[in-house]
Amino acid sequence: MLIHTIAEVREQVKEWRKQGLSIGLVPTMGALHDGHKSLIEKSVEKCDKTVVSVFVNPIQFCPGEDLDKYPRTLEADEKLCNDAGVDIVFAPSPKEMYGEGHILSNDFLTYVIPPYFYTDKLCGKSRVGHFDGVCTVVNKLFNIVQPDFAFFGEKDRQQLIILKKMVKDLNIPIQIIPCPIVREESGLALSSRNKYLSENDKKEALVLSKILFNIKACYEKGIKDCKLLHETAFSYLNEHHSLEYLEFRDADDLEEKKIADKNTIVFIALKIGDVRLIDNIALENV
Ligand code: AMP
Repeated sequence: MLIHTIAEVREQVKEWRKQGLSIGLVPTMGALHDGHKSLIEKSVEKCDKTVVSVFVNPIQFCPGEDLDKYPRTLEADEKLCNDAGVDIVFAPSPKEMYGEGHILSNDFLTYVIPPYFYTDKLCGKSRVGHFDGVCTVVNKLFNIVQPDFAFFGEKDRQQLIILKKMVKDLNIPIQIIPCPIVREESGLALSSRNKYLSENDKKEALVLSKILFNIKACYEKGIKDCKLLHETAFSYLNEHHSLEYLEFRDADDLEEKKIADKNTIVFIALKIGDVRLIDNIALENV
């Protein structure tokens, strides 16, 4: 069922609650692919009812980012959700979410601001304010749907860590379920932004997963010094790649690691032309 208004979602959820049914929420920005589908399938399996939100959230885009050209494919998204057994596809307009005139600056809108220690690094460094926008919209979706479980991909690992922290710090009674990264057979992590890549760019984009897989292989052979592991990346990079960061950080609090251990995540962001891609890998599956 496709729903565009908050009131209608609330009405339906109230009915489910009366019946004692469990509810799963999968927040997305649409242009759904197999990565999103894996989250949706997990929710459908675990919960009595599943809500998928499809909302390109304007307040998590920074000036000069791809808000206007971000792919919007609601009809196909609705079909994917229906086929997967989703109960509600919630696709609100910006006006429905943020009100008349939707004045989006934090002079006029109450924001949920995650701690600076978590947002001054990795993607937060170049995307200033991005995680404020993410936490604010996810909080709103939590309040609208009031799910028992919410499903987020490890593809956006910094986001996942920040949202877990938000839920803990604000005592939000929702369990966050992390879901593994879905990749193409080539290794490329699926992303809605892959649509911007030409065939050739797609080949160049394999450099992210190649670097990460190689670092993990070196770690498994016994190299633990992050500086040495970092250096292994350079043989993969060429003039098509503009590396934004390659960092070793703790899986819980994003503290920088000098010596890699079982709780280390390797994060990478890199631009191919104008397209910014991110990926990450856990050095051990704990
Ligand atoms: P987005 O629509 O990009 O905001 O993503 C919505 C959710 O899907 C987020 O929790 C993402 O981490 C997750 N997601 C996106 N791509 C993948 C992927 N390749 N594998 C697993 N989860 C993903």
